[in-house]
Amino acid sequence: MCCSLLQGRGMSRLCVVCGGSRGIGRAVSRLLAERGCRVAVVSRNQDAAQATVVSLTGADHMAFGCDVSKGEEVQKTFETIQKTCGNISYLVNAAGINRDGLLLRTSPEDMVALLHTNLLGSMLTCKAVLRSMLHTQGGAIVNIGSVVGLKGNAGQCVYSASKAGLEGFTRSLAKEVASRNVRVNLLAPGFIRTDMTVGLREGEGVRTIPLGRFGEPEEVAKAVLFLLESPYITGQVLVVDGGLQLAM
Ligand code: NDP
Repeated sequence: MCCSLLQGRGMSRLCVVCGGSRGIGRAVSRLLAERGCRVAVVSRNQDAAQATVVSLTGADHMAFGCDVSKGEEVQKTFETIQKTCGNISYLVNAAGINRDGLLLRTSPEDMVALLHTNLLGSMLTCKAVLRSMLHTQGGAIVNIGSVVGLKGNAGQCVYSASKAGLEGFTRSLAKEVASRNVRVNLLAPGFIRTDMTVGLREGEGVRTIPLGRFGEPEEVAKAVLFLLESPYITGQVLVVDGGLQLAM
């Protein structure tokens, strides 16, 4: 059911968007707010999360500073969100980092940071919302993967592994929780115009995208909303990449 209908009945959905302070997560936060949802924006930098909150349509949105790679921080943050705002209906895991480089030049510290933020982080946030979603027998989660996790890319071995891991995690969790009407899907973007891709926009890569351009965060946000609001889709990977995967 669409958020605005629920709001009309005085019970707007609560959505948590991790990585909501910038890029894809911010666009998702804005679209959800436009559709009448209450949004809890989570990122390490609370001021940046708050800046997103003040730009959202409507009221009752909140900002939280939390590093998703840290188990205790995640647990406390999600407990606070649920105590102060109620049950979480939607979770979007858009927090992520990249540390591109050939494997031989990638430090163990960078490997740990990539896996902890991109993979462990989503596992921790999913675990933190699940009990209440299972109890209320409803909820939807969208994890943000990458086409690189599906196809691989030289110079992104560890990033790719973190996103491939997220695909296996998403499909397995979807099987674990489907009987309680909780859905889990993966959205795999190609090149999207955000802080993460600032250095890539003028490069050769654009010519390999069949649609001939980078995607906009708002275009990914529409697909995230589609997955959140599609009651019969779970355990799926939706690729939003301007056709890039066809050329990889
Ligand atoms: P941005 O760099 O624009 O934004 C990343 C967001 O994640 C920020 O809000 C950042 O806030 C937050 N974040 C990073 N690390 C943590 C952390 N440890 N804990 C909490 N929040 C964190 O990235 P994009 O919007 O481009 O990327 C969003 C997701 O999409 C990522 O998972 C990325 O891997 C994926 N993706 C992006 C693509 C692209 O082309 N842009 C392509 C494919 C996938 P803060 O720094 O304050 O913590």
